[in-house]
Amino acid sequence: MSDQPLIAAIEMGGTKIVCGIGTGPHDLRSVHRIETTTPEETLEAASRWLSKMKIEYGHFASLGIGTFGPVDLNPNSEAYGFITTTPKPGWQQTDIVTFFKNRFRVPVGFDTDVNAAVLAEYLWGAGQGMDPVVYITVGTGVGGGVLVNGQLLHGAMHPEIGHLSVPPPKNSYAVQRECQCPFHRSCVEGYVSGTSIAKRWGVRADMLPFEHPAWEELADVMGHALMNLCLTLSPKRIILGGGVMEQPQVIPLIRAKLMHHLNGYLLIPQVGREIDQFIVSPGLGARSGLLGSLALGRIALDQKLNLQS
Ligand code: ZN
Repeated sequence: MSDQPLIAAIEMGGTKIVCGIGTGPHDLRSVHRIETTTPEETLEAASRWLSKMKIEYGHFASLGIGTFGPVDLNPNSEAYGFITTTPKPGWQQTDIVTFFKNRFRVPVGFDTDVNAAVLAEYLWGAGQGMDPVVYITVGTGVGGGVLVNGQLLHGAMHPEIGHLSVPPPKNSYAVQRECQCPFHRSCVEGYVSGTSIAKRWGVRADMLPFEHPAWEELADVMGHALMNLCLTLSPKRIILGGGVMEQPQVIPLIRAKLMHHLNGYLLIPQVGREIDQFIVSPGLGARSGLLGSLALGRIALDQKLNLQS
């Protein structure tokens, strides 16, 4: 058992939310999954589980939440702590932070699920010692978090890497070429999210065989996205997670496409002989989002303690 404070964590995804309680990656005491339905039902279910954990393990000192978005992260904004303009039905303008603050009266850390994931990977996973570091998830949707100078990148809002504009993928087999994003004519998520793949090819991504042309198309799109990130953020490492990235052939294909698109422009080992260490899988597997949420809770607690001292 650890002498670190007990922290509660919630990773909110579009299809499920994962709650956990513990002190860190080696002391995650309990984890619980809840299906994402309406905000009322889902938040209530998470709150009930956390109350149960309080009885079982004692008071938790803070709570961290990493969520699907977009979200408002500006502490001076009236909508701070809200999920804002999400296309997910029923979840627009949902105040997440106030709900949990009112329930548990503890400091609440709040960020995007992908910023949470990049934070966890930086602290404990494949991003250790790598700054700047980028984490991208390709699952139901596509999102990305960025950490620079030890801090999560926010700015005017937060990175929305899934909607980077990319050229339409080159693939003569494509049965349906249209980008599936309702907002953009040609963006990453519109081509390679699990949802888009299923719509474009009529088959779920995890059912597509190794040799299916969809994989080359996906690698082409991701190669463009990663090139843009290399050219703007100059990351030391890019971590690719999410269900669609679990196919073993995908990451090597993406590395090759990234080098192809860069066309020798960047003369650095990361996009040459060391590319296998530059574009990598998450070190924490599917746990980065939850552990990052825990880390957000820890940061919120530290900030409160600093203010008091
Ligand atoms: Zn888009």
